[in-house]
Amino acid sequence: MYSFIEDDEYINKQTIWDQVCGALEKEIGGPRMTSVFSRVVPLGITQDGEFVVGVHNKFNHDVIQRFHADTIDVLLHDITGLDMRLRVETDSDLAESVLTNSAPLEIEQHGYDEPITPAEDAKISFDQKYTFESFVVGDTNNFAYSAALAVAEQPGLKYNPLFIWGGPGLGKTHLLQAIGSYITNSFPYKKVTYITTEELVNQFTSSLTTKDKNVTDYLRTYYRGADVLILDDIQFLENKQSTIDFFFHTFNDLKGRGKQIIIASDRSPGELKMNERYTSRFKSGLIVDIQPPTYEVRLAILKKYTSRLKIEFDYDAISYIAERSSGNIREMEGAITRSTAFAELSNKDRVDIKLIEIVTADYFLDQTKRPISIATIQKEVCRYYGISHTDLIGSKRKQDLVYPRHIAMYLCQELTDSSFPKIGDEFGGKDHTTVMHAAAKIKKKMSSENETYKQIQHLTNVLHNKPI
Ligand code: ADP
Ligand code: MG
Repeated sequence: MYSFIEDDEYINKQTIWDQVCGALEKEIGGPRMTSVFSRVVPLGITQDGEFVVGVHNKFNHDVIQRFHADTIDVLLHDITGLDMRLRVETDSDLAESVLTNSAPLEIEQHGYDEPITPAEDAKISFDQKYTFESFVVGDTNNFAYSAALAVAEQPGLKYNPLFIWGGPGLGKTHLLQAIGSYITNSFPYKKVTYITTEELVNQFTSSLTTKDKNVTDYLRTYYRGADVLILDDIQFLENKQSTIDFFFHTFNDLKGRGKQIIIASDRSPGELKMNERYTSRFKSGLIVDIQPPTYEVRLAILKKYTSRLKIEFDYDAISYIAERSSGNIREMEGAITRSTAFAELSNKDRVDIKLIEIVTADYFLDQTKRPISIATIQKEVCRYYGISHTDLIGSKRKQDLVYPRHIAMYLCQELTDSSFPKIGDEFGGKDHTTVMHAAAKIKKKMSSENETYKQIQHLTNVLHNKPI
């Protein structure tokens, strides 16, 4: 049994929990939020900083623990300013009594309570940065762009599936998100499901380990309930045979009922290490590729990107980046982020070529040195801050561990081609929203704290100059 501290005007469990849910809603949205969090009850806060919540079944317990606990820890810290950690209770007397007393909740034995129907889903929120309007079209991506727009305008009726492939940082996720946003806005009654393959693999394999048939059934019902299914980074399905089977059953079912499927991959279907029996299914729709942007397209993207910033960029400065970049747009954005941070730290209101030269001196990698791996970044960050790898990827919330962890996550996001879920996985199985939070935090800190900026620059130089 816990001994909880009394609520007061500063620390009130319900108010804190409402704020946590508000923040989570923005990030997760969708059915996962509705079905998992609508029945979580804050029970109290212990003397040693545990924020205890009660849930009504083991599956919700596992979902929260596995996918959301780290993010919630960060949110609790942000909201209260205290070092607070989440603890999830199932079936304890306490949880039971609170849960049974709080009508209209009903306690069920296991599994999700009822199949989720589109009508009761909260809408999945797509990243508003990634729209068709903000996508710069050029010779290297116009085919993919037009196909994406056609599918967004007439889901299920044009190309099905639409398969978009191309190298890292070329705009695949951007287009998928743009399709998702567009359909959500134009067809509010359609259920749009967006998932990265890493998340799908995680969900499916953890449903197998719970050995609860209800959970696997739930996943099946959930994905088959989609009107539009968007799957990012399908290359991560390679060698995951049980998830491959699960996905292609879903695929066949959806396609058979005229539901739209959109897939992104870093390789063409033929290059995926998957049975041809599966990959040939993609040929029934449209396969389009995105090529690295030419100099002109790079320049146009940089112009559009910097026009949204508070700081002005000289034309020379932008063309300097366009010239040196290998074409990975994520890398160009990283150069802009660092230049903006440097300008803000030195109170400049415009970025000129001199500033860019200083900031990006060791930034652009020549192609022979690629790629930097998550493991290399973790190793260097551990060495630099003098902490162990276990602590870096663990979940201890001491500031002298949390900060290096966030720095490492930021660098992985900027310098490797890994998606947020992949990075989360490599940091002890953390949720992708935790990585997003961490990266955003460091990005902001870089503009306000010289020390952070210098450390990021230093670590990048070390990483870029490492022989591989
Ligand atoms: P991928 O999924 O192919 O690895 P992303 O879609 O994540 O790449 O793109 C990386 C970054 O580059 C994103 O911030 C995205 O908005 C930006 N980007 C890519 N292509 C374009 C484009 N044609 N116009 C504007 N921004 C782009
Ligand atoms: Mg992507």
